[in-house]
Amino acid sequence: MPGSSLAGTPVALRHVLVSLSARYTLGIMLEVDKDTRVKQIRRCGKCGAEAVRVSNVTSHYVNGGYSGRTYEHECTQCKRTWKSRSLLRLLGQGFLAGVTFLVGVGAIVGFITGLTPLYDDSIQGLAMSYGLFGAMGLFGLVYGTMLGKGILNLLLNPVARVLP
Ligand SMILES: [Zn+2]
Repeated sequence: MPGSSLAGTPVALRHVLVSLSARYTLGIMLEVDKDTRVKQIRRCGKCGAEAVRVSNVTSHYVNGGYSGRTYEHECTQCKRTWKSRSLLRLLGQGFLAGVTFLVGVGAIVGFITGLTPLYDDSIQGLAMSYGLFGAMGLFGLVYGTMLGKGILNLLLNPVARVLP
């Protein structure tokens, strides 16, 4: 629980600490204006023009907690668009993709090797088990690839200059 570490702190001090941490959260993470990635102009990996700017920023929240950003990049020269994620978003989504992939592939390996006994070994049961976990593994793989593409695009479109 947030704030539980503050238990036992005098009320006045606790108030100061909470408002400080709120200001920290707002100042560092929530102000899009102060986000360096938004101010970066990148060199386009496709046409070479120093014309790639961030056209849109989406901040994500999970249960009211900040969980990172997604950036949409657009080259004003050749109109190529791509997306990238903030580190926090990347870590959260990457973890999700990784777990989904591992559970899916793990279950399939379990079925094949007999490590995981199948609930129902009729044809329908087999199709459902393999289908479900196969889809999970595939989803994880596709999602992971998508996240990786964002990182690759950041590398292929290096920062040319930063707006003040
Ligand atoms: Zn371009």
